[in-house]
Amino acid sequence: MNERVEILGVNVDSLTMAESVKFIENLIDSGKPSIVATANAEMLMRATQDEELKDILNAAALVVPDGAGTVWAARHLGCEMPERVAGYDLAQELMKIAPEKSYKIFLFGSAPGVADKAKLKAEELYPGIEIVGTRNGFFSPEDEPEIVEKIKETKPDILFAALGVPKQEKWLAKYKDELNVPVSIGVGGTFDVMAGVMKRAPLWMQRAKLEWLFRAMLQPKRAGRLAALPKFVLKVHSSKKKLEK
Ligand code: UDP
Repeated sequence: MNERVEILGVNVDSLTMAESVKFIENLIDSGKPSIVATANAEMLMRATQDEELKDILNAAALVVPDGAGTVWAARHLGCEMPERVAGYDLAQELMKIAPEKSYKIFLFGSAPGVADKAKLKAEELYPGIEIVGTRNGFFSPEDEPEIVEKIKETKPDILFAALGVPKQEKWLAKYKDELNVPVSIGVGGTFDVMAGVMKRAPLWMQRAKLEWLFRAMLQPKRAGRLAALPKFVLKVHSSKKKLEK
């Protein structure tokens, strides 16, 4: 069992990137369908008001600390959290080892054409990678059986789902057993970045823990979502105080 830190009711695993990759390799070897989630502050805040999301996260095989906010919260609560394990970086690490491990990958989500572009990018970056299928993330409930069939047919070892939070987590939880894919991961804007539709923050900003600011600058529509961050800090702080009483 990994060390887990409870942050606002969600158990987050205390692991490095290398340990997370190893853990996922073991999940794939076990063959049992499982969900991996990447928890940033926004997701953890949402889970405080969305019981279904919270239950899905607590039932996941692995919840990695995606984002400076999650790492800060764990440490503030007095627990070990070695480093940030960003969803985008985790997806890249898994794609990097996929050719040598013969992992087959399915890319599900984002606007039409984006997952195909991400596939081309992956083939350029990781020669020999087997992306066995793609499907955009805009669909109606009637399309879902066909999407499930398409994923099942291609028998991937890893399913990356980029539908945004909490849609991706809920969709994966709903279809986990039927899909029978060893590892499914919600990866948010990963395909957008790979396809060049969205930019990742420059390294200096990532290191200065300012990636959230960069995203808000590029997508002003998201700026409202930033309000979740100070609320998150306050909520974690008061949960710590309660613990101390
Ligand atoms: N998306 C999708 N289907 C939807 C809503 C969103 O495929 O019904 C995609 C969207 O195109 C984007 C991705 O979900 O590529 C993640 O969006 P966002 O960056 O908002 O993710 P979050 O920050 O919530 O992880």
